[in-house]
Amino acid sequence: MPQLLFATSNAHKTDEVRQMLGPDWLVENLQTYPHLPIPDETGTTFEDNARIKAEAASIALPDHLVLADDSGLEVDALNLAPGVISARYAGPNATDADNRARLKAELAPIAAANPELPLTGRFRCCMVLAKAGRTLAIENGTVEGRLLLDEQGSGGFGYDALFIPDGYQDSFGLLPTEVKNQLSHRARALAAMIQWLNADRPG
Ligand code: IMP
Repeated sequence: MPQLLFATSNAHKTDEVRQMLGPDWLVENLQTYPHLPIPDETGTTFEDNARIKAEAASIALPDHLVLADDSGLEVDALNLAPGVISARYAGPNATDADNRARLKAELAPIAAANPELPLTGRFRCCMVLAKAGRTLAIENGTVEGRLLLDEQGSGGFGYDALFIPDGYQDSFGLLPTEVKNQLSHRARALAAMIQWLNADRPG
């Protein structure tokens, strides 16, 4: 059975990737390797940070095929914030709830001053596959949508309850997981990565 180490400790993201890859793949994450050093995400782009995570884990475990992602939310009215600091928007030890509270606090005055302004934004994901410290493939995915001023639903994680994907009326916090897994930024980046994995490549 092909094996993949997903270099994250986020159980939600791991479940999404497991479901998308299906039963033919054994997907582990960093919870199985608690001794691995976690690199600082010092990059200025999602790609930089995904490479940092994938390459660090694949140097520590050189026999493993390592997948890493970096993802986040961009809000047009906030000049693309929170972007690469999505996980730390409300501070270094922020919880998802803290980050959503900061986002709501940033958006409320903008929406009050411009009631007609659509609060457009997107989730972005960059996925990197690495082995023994070498990047093998880089794939990106996005999902466009709009932001809510109040949370809707309690499913998912992160900013899900504040984001309605284009073409839907409900937030990712309300939509069933299967729906999110078909259209999410991670789903799109992973679909491209699976194509790469399944392609016949020389060597
Ligand atoms: P990462 O783990 O460094 O990629 O940080 C991603 C952060 O972006 C998460 O902590 C969430 O705040 C946000 N994020 C990424 N993907 C999603 C998603 O699918 N739903 C909601 N929030 C997300």
